[in-house]
Amino acid sequence: MNYYDFQVVFQEVPGEISLCFSICGCPLKCEGCHSPHLWKEENGKTLTIEKFEKILKQYDDLATCVLFMGGEWHENELVNMLKIAKKNQYKTCLYTGLDAISKAILDELNWLKTGKWNAALGGLSSKITNQKFIDIKSNTIKNNLFIKN
Ligand code: SF4
Repeated sequence: MNYYDFQVVFQEVPGEISLCFSICGCPLKCEGCHSPHLWKEENGKTLTIEKFEKILKQYDDLATCVLFMGGEWHENELVNMLKIAKKNQYKTCLYTGLDAISKAILDELNWLKTGKWNAALGGLSSKITNQKFIDIKSNTIKNNLFIKN
């Protein structure tokens, strides 16, 4: 599984400081995609278990959540990394452009963002978006956390 970059982010999972890994090879090719550099698998570098665990340890005093931007197309590797994140006391989130993902991935998540990018409908802060930010445990949509008054 290749990743393009890694960042510490504050907005994507409300209330959490997240270690965000952008995974290469996105097959969805949404029109108007903000990250076309993620379409090609070979644009990234391998996210090895060693590298991943090193980052988790490095940020364990600061960050509270591990967020994957994509990667559901590498199901076994993604599930394995989510399990490692949880073992290291991190919460977990996946942003996918799909409307649904496998149960194997779902079982390892605290939050899931679904839905392709559609410029006419906007992202999570839009009241008419097709995208959903879901709290898995309570199975509730939490888009309200992104909408500014
Ligand atoms: S899911 Fe995200 S990265 Fe993939 S094509 Fe759509 S907007 Fe781009």
